[in-house]
Amino acid sequence: MVTLKEIFSEQEIRERTTALGKEISEVYKDEPLVIICVLKGAFLFFSDLVRNIKKDSQLELDFVRLASYGSSDKSSRTISFTKDIEVNVEGKNVLIVEDIVDTGLTMEFLLKQLSVRKAKSVKIAALLSKKARREKSIAIDFVGFYIQDGFLVGYGLDYAEKYRNLPCICEAQL
Ligand code: 5GP
Repeated sequence: MVTLKEIFSEQEIRERTTALGKEISEVYKDEPLVIICVLKGAFLFFSDLVRNIKKDSQLELDFVRLASYGSSDKSSRTISFTKDIEVNVEGKNVLIVEDIVDTGLTMEFLLKQLSVRKAKSVKIAALLSKKARREKSIAIDFVGFYIQDGFLVGYGLDYAEKYRNLPCICEAQL
């Protein structure tokens, strides 16, 4: 049986996404911006974040889905697209919206891909930065919350596709 312990409440998440939306608006001001949601885990964070960015006409939104293979040996994991972005990012500012940066391998892969496609700039907004297992040094420009370790579910994050709909973020004791 899975037991859940609340780590960040719905209220805390609302306050943090509002603050991050303001921060992002101030950084990009009137510049055009492509915001990419990393499916599936970031879908709620993304939807709350974009509604707090005051840039109605200048935003393009897109979605990507990535799969990783060989998870038992993390450093040799291979990342690939299962759904690629559709917007042309060449010469544009891009903001990646991710749920958790854990080892950093997924973000390292996506950053490389966006650089090959000649994005003008790429920044990362992550709901959670989990430090304990970090393998790649990834600069996260906008962080929702820092955590050390533990397996989290809720607010988009799943365990075997469950718990994504929880309004809070919980630690799952599996
Ligand atoms: P990384 O490539 O940084 O190791 O992995 C990032 C991905 O692993 C995240 O996008 C997320 O899908 C998954 N992940 C890492 N930690 C957790 C966690 O605590 N809970 C859930 N549900 N997924 C996690």
